[in-house]
Amino acid sequence: MSFTIAIDGPAAAGKGTISKAVAAHFGVGHLDTGLLYRAVGKRMLDGIEPIEAARALVAEDLQAEGLRTAAVAQAASKVAAIPEVRAALVDFQRAYARRAGGAVLDGRDIGTVICPEAEAKLFVTASAEVRARRRFEELRAGGAETDYDTVLADTKERDHRDASRADAPLRPAEDAVILDTSTLDIATAVAQAIAAVAAKRSDGETA
Ligand code: C5P
Repeated sequence: MSFTIAIDGPAAAGKGTISKAVAAHFGVGHLDTGLLYRAVGKRMLDGIEPIEAARALVAEDLQAEGLRTAAVAQAASKVAAIPEVRAALVDFQRAYARRAGGAVLDGRDIGTVICPEAEAKLFVTASAEVRARRRFEELRAGGAETDYDTVLADTKERDHRDASRADAPLRPAEDAVILDTSTLDIATAVAQAIAAVAAKRSDGETA
């Protein structure tokens, strides 16, 4: 049986942590689709044309070094606004979504565009200030030289670009469960996400 769990939301809302935990809990695969756009963004920074880079992308590229930097994140959100780049990445994501046993895909448009038929959809969000604070702590812990105001401005810039693009803008699917993590600790957010997915799985069993 395939069971697709779509987890969307803006940067640093807790999507990654929640997606990993949900995938581990249900024993299914996890694809962080942001890595696809990051891999293309990094190629663009290396001087490669982004549409060509997207068409040539292979699974191993997602393991490349240096995909988690702030510069690559901004490049990712620029290439993600190019319709041909998005189109080139659709088949890979849909094939992953339908793998036997089920899968969690996290991103921006999984519940709306990539897998509108996903059995469970979550939209994980938090205020820009809370997300910037978390990202700032993460970057500082990793030794990066930055300050909170820069991270907040970066977060807002990326949110704006992701939400205002014409193709597959960031927004919750109509049938998504909204999980606002602004005031939740990780354990509570994960528990709520698992409960929301479990409710959909038991729906399927009784339907
Ligand atoms: O989630 P992450 O921060 O790694 O994503 C990097 C960028 O990739 C996002 O800002 C967004 O522009 C783009 N993205 C997207 N659609 C997805 C996943 C990521 O447009 N499904």
